[in-house]
Order: sequence, then C-alpha cells, then structure tokens
Amino acid sequence: MSGIKPARRWQPRFYPFHRESFGKRFREKIEIMVKGPVWGCRMCGNCLLQETAFICCMECPKGLRNGPCGGVTPDGHCYVDPTRRCVWHAIYFRARKIGREDTLLEVLPPLDWSRVGTETWADVFSQIGRTGTGKFFRSLFSSDKELKKQVWDSVFRTVRQPVWWNGDSEYHAAAYREPVSELEKNLREGRFVVATEVTPPQSADSGKLKNDIELVRPYVKAINFTDASSAIPKMSALACCKVAVDLNAEPVFQIAARDTTRISLQSDAIGAGQFGIRNILCVTGDSPVVGPPPASDMNINDLDSVQMLWILRRMRDEGIYLDGRKMKHPPSYFLGAATTPFALDPELQAIRDQKKVNAGAQFFQTNIIFEPERLDPWLEQLDRRNVLGKVSILVGLVPLKSYKAALYLHEKVPGVYLPKKILSRMERAGDGAREEGIAITLEMIASIKHKKGISGIHLMSLGWEEVVGRIVREAGLDQA
Ligand code: SF4
Ligand code: SF4
Repeated sequence: MSGIKPARRWQPRFYPFHRESFGKRFREKIEIMVKGPVWGCRMCGNCLLQETAFICCMECPKGLRNGPCGGVTPDGHCYVDPTRRCVWHAIYFRARKIGREDTLLEVLPPLDWSRVGTETWADVFSQIGRTGTGKFFRSLFSSDKELKKQVWDSVFRTVRQPVWWNGDSEYHAAAYREPVSELEKNLREGRFVVATEVTPPQSADSGKLKNDIELVRPYVKAINFTDASSAIPKMSALACCKVAVDLNAEPVFQIAARDTTRISLQSDAIGAGQFGIRNILCVTGDSPVVGPPPASDMNINDLDSVQMLWILRRMRDEGIYLDGRKMKHPPSYFLGAATTPFALDPELQAIRDQKKVNAGAQFFQTNIIFEPERLDPWLEQLDRRNVLGKVSILVGLVPLKSYKAALYLHEKVPGVYLPKKILSRMERAGDGAREEGIAITLEMIASIKHKKGISGIHLMSLGWEEVVGRIVREAGLDQA
C-alpha cells in the first residue's frame, strides 16, 4: 500500500544495516504520506510528475518513463494487468486536456537506482533556494506564462534532468554523412524497401536458421532477428545476426529493453559493430506475462526504448557513454524503433513517435497492420509535426497462413487487431487459407505503396519464410 510503504519494485537498494539521518528518514515519511494517497507515489526517488500531467507514471508495470508501449488495449487498459487502465494512456489524454502535450516530448532519464526509495523534496527545496524562494512563490500566482515556465523549469527541470542525461524535446539529426548500412543507403536513395524477419531457432542447431536466411536473402534488403519475442527464450538476436553477416545478408539487431540493462545495452551495441552489424532496432519487448510459465520477474526494467535510443545516439554522435566517459572510437549504426500506429488516437500517437525520432530513431518498423487505410490520419499527424522527412517508415505485414493463425494474432498478440472482414475472409477460405493470406498481403502492399511517408514494408512471415520471395515477386518489389 503506497501510502504506508513503497511497492516492492521501488524499495531502496538492499543495505540491511544502512543508517540514515533522522532528518532524511523524517522527510521520506512525510513525502510518502503526502504523495502516496494523492498520487499513488511509489517512491521511485526520481520524480517526473511535472512532465506526466501530474499522474504518476510509475504505475506502469513495465516502469516506462517516456510514454506507452504498443500493448494498450483499444479501451485504454494495460495488457500486462488488464484489471488496470494503462497509466500512459491516461497521462496522454490528461496532458492534451490541460494543454500540456508538448511536455510529453521531453526525453526523460532512466532511474538513478541509488535514489530509489528515498525522498526527492530536499533537491526541490534546495533548487527553489537557488532560484529564489520569493521569485518561485510569486511565479505561482503570476499570470505571465513565460515567467512561470522559466521559473518552474529552473527548479524542476534541473531536478529531473541530471547532467549525465541532459534530455530535451529537440530533434537531433544524426551526426554522420555516409550511410552506415545497405538498409540506410537504400532508404536514403528513396527505394521502396522490403525487410523481413527470420525467426531465431529454439535450439542450438543453426541449420534451419541458415536455410531460412538463404531463402529470403535475395528478396530483401535487411533481415530482423527478434530478441526473445513473446518472452520465449530462443537463440540470441546477436548470434543470429552474426550468422546472417557470415552469409552476406544484412541483419537488423533487435534489442528488447525487457532483458537489457544500461550496462549490457552499451556493451552489446559496441560489440555488435565488431561482427559487422550496422542496424539496431530498440524495442520495449513483450512482458513476461505473455511468455511461458514459470513467470519471470517483471520488476527489473532498467530502461525503456526511448532511453535506449537516446543512449545509443549519444554514444555514436557524441562519443560518450551514459556515465559521461568519452570513447576514442565511437560505434556506428543505423538506429530504428518500433511503433504501433493505432495504439492511441493519431494525434497522441504522433507525439509518442516524434519523441522516438527526437531521441534518435532513423527508421520505424510498425507493428502488424491489417487496416492500411487507418495509417492515413497517423501519417497526417506525423506530417503536421514535421516528422515524416526525418524517419523512414516500414509497415509491418503478416501473410496469414490459416484462420487459426489470424485468430491467434487477433486475440493473443498485444497491440494487433484484425478487422472482421479479414477474419471472415480467412474463415471462408477453408483449405485455400494460405492463398487468401497471400492475396490479402498483396492487396495491402498495393494500398500502402504510394502513401506519402511510407518507405517500405517489413514482412513478418512468422516461420513461413518460403512465402517472402513469392510476395516480393508478385508485388513487383524485386530488390535487385
Ligand atoms: S514519479 Fe516517482 S517520486 Fe514522483 S510520484 Fe511517481 S513514484 Fe513518486
Ligand atoms: S499498456 Fe504498456 S504502457 Fe500501458 S501501463 Fe501497461 S505496460 Fe505500461
């Protein structure tokens, strides 16, 4: 119960005999007694209420601090805990209602775990002292919005943006000229690109993996390797990427925040370059609740995908690690992110996506789409925000194999919804379901191919790699 004691995830580091001053313990008790009942405070020790429309974002079971994941249900509930509303959904809607949408763009830092479970008010009060106590309280009653913003920023921005993070709401173009990968080169040249996904094997034998890579390689510009998708352990994405490089295929290395710490992220990103891996896709990752039992711990999220992009972009463009250490030879990679265009209403979803682009995303791969016409309002909103020219968008498509597979995607995969007309077509198709699935995919390609802002498709064959070549040929998208 948050009013009395912080939830387990946010308890201080395990120092059983640690001693704290009476003053600090007293401030902690007062803070939890005030913020617990009012905001459901979990004492994360790194308060963001100013930027989250005064709703505590630490209610999110994934601990996301920069916006919703793609799994929010159509009625605004959380797929990890369907008994609860998605807290980020609530934050976005309230921010729009009170005219604070633009505060959602600021790239917010990961937790400084040394502060978790401790109070945050001492910093705020000392910052108010530095700004001028009188000035701060006068600004509260001032009608001058600019002055108010300036004074509040000088207090709260300083507290929530430590020097090792220095996040902002601005767009940061990549600081290099020549493309670093074939995928980037083709996208820059304006070709309609096809990427695909090869499912990592669930065993140590790479025979099928190699075979699948060879099957799709002639038809695509890049091959994604997922990072234990659906929270099911498989061969690591890094190993699969190395196998692909050895076969002269271009991999996209997916890294899921779910299993990644700030330390492993930075090490893996540098290590990937040594294997010739030049495309990295940052995703939040499916929660362990969708994976097989026994359930793993859900309390270990260290980063979210926006933070991953921010860290990797700064490593590449500014040559610094998260802790500020300079590196002599920065890594190079083309950075991507996932997006779920229909997760929120298009206006709010565009804010979420703009934030990822500002943080460092150069290409997007969308979640699986079955209603291409619904992309239009989202693309319009991205255009209004001047985002379209800054990111290449590959639309995620799945050729359906059967009615059963269609139902599975619709009912079990977070963020994926099939309209009734597609479900009925697949049901009616009976033994011809595979042909119907291919026909649906070809229709969707035809309808998105000429949309402004779409740079290609990301074909997710879900283990049906043989179909990739046929779809590419029949859609007239040969990648030679
Ligand atoms: S952001 Fe952290 S400190 Fe602020 S109310 Fe939420 S849990 Fe408490
Ligand atoms: S749907 Fe995603 S973002 Fe929303 S509360 Fe659940 S885990 Fe967090």
